[in-house]
Amino acid sequence: MVQASFFWYGSWADGCILKDVFPSLFFICEQKNQCVNRFRFPSNLDAHQLGWNFHLPLSLSNFNPSKAQELHLFLSRFWLDESGVDQLIWTASPGATFSVADAINILVQSSGLPPPVWPKIIWGNNVPFKIMVFHWLAIKQCIPVRDILASRSILPPNVSTLCVFCMTDIETIDHLLIHCKWSSSILSDLFRWWNIRWIIPRSIVDFSFDWFYGMGIKASKFWKLIGPATMWAIWMARNDFIFNGKFTCRSIIVRNIKLKVFLWASSLKLVHGLQAYVWDQNPFLFCQ
Ligand SMILES: [Zn+2]
Repeated sequence: MVQASFFWYGSWADGCILKDVFPSLFFICEQKNQCVNRFRFPSNLDAHQLGWNFHLPLSLSNFNPSKAQELHLFLSRFWLDESGVDQLIWTASPGATFSVADAINILVQSSGLPPPVWPKIIWGNNVPFKIMVFHWLAIKQCIPVRDILASRSILPPNVSTLCVFCMTDIETIDHLLIHCKWSSSILSDLFRWWNIRWIIPRSIVDFSFDWFYGMGIKASKFWKLIGPATMWAIWMARNDFIFNGKFTCRSIIVRNIKLKVFLWASSLKLVHGLQAYVWDQNPFLFCQ
């Protein structure tokens, strides 16, 4: 029974919105907000004999008869299942099961833009969810660093916007996570661990691309974890310093990043029985 779909507004007729296809009839219709069932006529006939009453005012019933006939002809193509349940069905996925991925594909295809990369780089990564969210907020320039807090008048006027680690530059997201001498020294230690020379990326966006796509296939499964782990460790160290007055030295932060990634890699069965000290000494053995 078609009792839930709106006659004029719904897409029940092969995806067509009748109010857009037949605007002149919609304009004079007296029952614009009724379901399809209210337009059946007479209602005691079976589905194959179904007629339609478009609820046009008698004084205007001859307003545009050709359009009414056209709508009759259009609707004659459809057979209404009287025994079926009237409900919305997601037709974009196999099995009519809604998925966010299919919804994104529809939006991307309709926009003509290239597919978004962030679902794969951030939400498809095997790091804890809170770190995915942190990474996403960093990409969207929404981490509450001092520069952003000041721009929103949240930071008290007597509190400096300078980075707490170098005290020379404004604490922006890009500065704190990659450009600060202190942060880049942590990153340099990690690259040195893998015998890699690196160039400081321009922004956190470039940084994320580099760490996700820039390594060899065998090493990339680890670097995908190391990047977000490093950003999170820097952010935690910054908060510890500001809110608890506790400064964590660089070597401890680097050691903790290595250990955290090792544990994540273990849970992903990427370590092949090797021990953590081997990971620290020669990570390439894990890429065999
Ligand atoms: Zn700094």
